[in-house]
Amino acid sequence: MVKICCIGAGYVGGPTMAVIALKCPAIEVAVVDISASRIAAWNSDQLPIYEAGLDEIVKQCRGKNLLFSTAVEKHVAEADIIFVSVNTPTKTRGLGAGKAADLTYWESAARMIADVSKSNKIVVEKSTVPVKTAEAIEKILTHNSKGIKYQILSNPEFLAEGTAIEDLFNPDRVLIGGRETAEGQKAIQALKQVYANWVPEDRIITTNLWSAELSKLAANAFLAQRISSVNAMSALCEATGANISQVAHAVGKDSRIGPKFLNASVGFGGSCFQKDILNLVYICECNGLPEVANYWKQVIQVNDYQKNRFVNRVVSSMFNTVSGKKIAILGFAFKKDTGDTRETPAIDVCKGLLGDKAHLSIYDVQVTEEQIQRDLSMNKFDWDHPIHLQPASPIGVKQVSVAWDAYEATKGAHGICILTEWDEFKTLDYNKIFDHMHKPAFVFDGRNVVDAEKLRQIGFIVYSIGKPLDA
Ligand code: NAD
Repeated sequence: MVKICCIGAGYVGGPTMAVIALKCPAIEVAVVDISASRIAAWNSDQLPIYEAGLDEIVKQCRGKNLLFSTAVEKHVAEADIIFVSVNTPTKTRGLGAGKAADLTYWESAARMIADVSKSNKIVVEKSTVPVKTAEAIEKILTHNSKGIKYQILSNPEFLAEGTAIEDLFNPDRVLIGGRETAEGQKAIQALKQVYANWVPEDRIITTNLWSAELSKLAANAFLAQRISSVNAMSALCEATGANISQVAHAVGKDSRIGPKFLNASVGFGGSCFQKDILNLVYICECNGLPEVANYWKQVIQVNDYQKNRFVNRVVSSMFNTVSGKKIAILGFAFKKDTGDTRETPAIDVCKGLLGDKAHLSIYDVQVTEEQIQRDLSMNKFDWDHPIHLQPASPIGVKQVSVAWDAYEATKGAHGICILTEWDEFKTLDYNKIFDHMHKPAFVFDGRNVVDAEKLRQIGFIVYSIGKPLDA
């Protein structure tokens, strides 16, 4: 029986390994992590992450060919294929701080693999890493090898949070990069066989190591760029009377462009887009390509601009001050169908409003009070881009309360900011909400999810991203 071990039981490691276990009953899958609380959660009824369909798969496979454990060394030693899916955040100190990927977790995983391995291994980069990371990993492994042979593969993960299981079941592509040697190609074939259990062959792409590593950064940069492009257009729409939904529809009809990922919003978030673009920027700078670096930096700058623009719109619409006013924040997760708040635009928007002394009542379908309080009391790292939304002084935690539902959040509020596109925000009883708000009652729809016309008929003053104010 082939044995797989995945180091890192996070948003990527957990779901990807659960799907491999489900689709490959003949493979034993161990998911290991140094975080005892995360592993305990994976072994409980309350999984550490929310993804539609994940609970059922874990329940079906756990105790059969899927296990979650803190016995990292034991399972690494026993495995034939080791996926490394540890976090690769942006460095906060030292060389490359604010841009470069922090590979500390990766390096410690690689050193541990070298320490405990007693048989040849295939080591798979599942984390998103800078191009050429495999070279560094190879050095660490081979210099500590004790005669054991390692093949490094790059197999970046393209799943999107919120649709992780669907994406894993039916991926647009599976990308596997490896060395062009006979051993490298053999390793590629071994990993290909795993995916071939459910992924059609024509969707499994094989490349050299550097192409695979760079493709992941490139894909995220392209996706984020698309959002910044439509958001930049949304500002121009507001200034000219054009409507971003109509513009996006017309533009997306061009088959070279396509209709997906053209929704204007308050900005992109999530743990990956900003971090991966910063990483790309750093790699460009290190390779003597400052113009290319500046090109990609703009994607982040437009994103910051969009969040800032939203905050300014809220404050200026509410008579240039939100001091002491209650603002209901509907949605805190960085997108719908996930409880993940990493780099969510809600953090910057909330901090911007708190900086103007607003009182916030926050409701999200999945995000917990603990997450919200933690995210809002943390000072974001001072990134190397010009727009800063954080107030200079620490947040007064008393300015923030967390509500059980949208009705509680909006009771007695002067304004509502919709920051996540949760479906339930489309169907709230806005008549009831209007009745219990201060007047004039404002709605600032950062995701363009509500029917602005209907809300205006009720009496709300509505701002939608990229749409004329009187539309
Ligand atoms: P995560 O923070 O949720 O999970 C990483 C896990 O690795 C943590 O539980 C941590 O405790 C564990 N870990 C760190 N060092 C370890 C070690 N030495 N031994 C054992 N466990 C260790 O991160 P994530 O969101 O799953 O992302 C993992 C990687 O995948 C990142 O590089 C990310 O950029 C990439 N990625 C993420 C997504 C996404 O949507 N979240 C999508 C594609 C790729």
